[in-house]
Amino acid sequence: MRLGIFGGTFNPIHLGHLRVAEEVRETLELEKILFVPSYLPPHKELDSGVPGGIRLEIVRRAVSSNPFFELSAFEVEQGGNSYSVRTIDHLRRLHRTTPYFILGQDAFNEILTWYDAQRLFDLAHFAVMSRPGAIRPDLKDVLAEAASRFEKTSYGYVNSQGNRIVFVDVTPLDISSSKIRDLCRQGRSITYLVPREVEEYIRSERIYE
Ligand code: ATP
Repeated sequence: MRLGIFGGTFNPIHLGHLRVAEEVRETLELEKILFVPSYLPPHKELDSGVPGGIRLEIVRRAVSSNPFFELSAFEVEQGGNSYSVRTIDHLRRLHRTTPYFILGQDAFNEILTWYDAQRLFDLAHFAVMSRPGAIRPDLKDVLAEAASRFEKTSYGYVNSQGNRIVFVDVTPLDISSSKIRDLCRQGRSITYLVPREVEEYIRSERIYE
């Protein structure tokens, strides 16, 4: 099974997330992408304090029409700090595969600050998506000495275990969750930035007002 794992705060999920995930799925011929909303992101303040259960419901609505997309409640059900290394370890055992961990270039550039970052590269392939405003530095500028474990190939990088880092140029969509939260707070429209069912839910539950 060619599996993708797409983690995020998803506060809320937006059309940027969905479109770039679809492009990665197509490019890497993934059979399934699991969207995993974090419970407590270790790297971010959870702006607006929207509970995991609500963000889970928003993602459920957003992915329901795509047969390749699925929601995972793992991190929300686990509670506590959401460490990707624990999530990937769990999901790779469950699905008996080395998954592709999907993340934006902005997030990848910070990867060494993540909990047990070195181990992440032993557990998963990485699919790093371009994102407006995020530069793509040299691998050694991001991974420091850990970069020496990777060899350059025609498609990206590979380590001695055969785990890859692949860079995927996706359609630049300058959409962010923070922009959407700001628009909501100002009482402005978020139409065409999030799926319609997400917009309806956010409005009816007054989530970011
Ligand atoms: P915020 O604005 O609150 O910081 P965000 O829009 O970055 O949120 P997250 O849920 O933090 O959303 O993102 C989850 C993952 O999706 C991250 O790896 C991030 O880099 C990636 N991502 C989010 N939006 C885009 C986008 N428009 N293009 C490419 N990658 C994206």
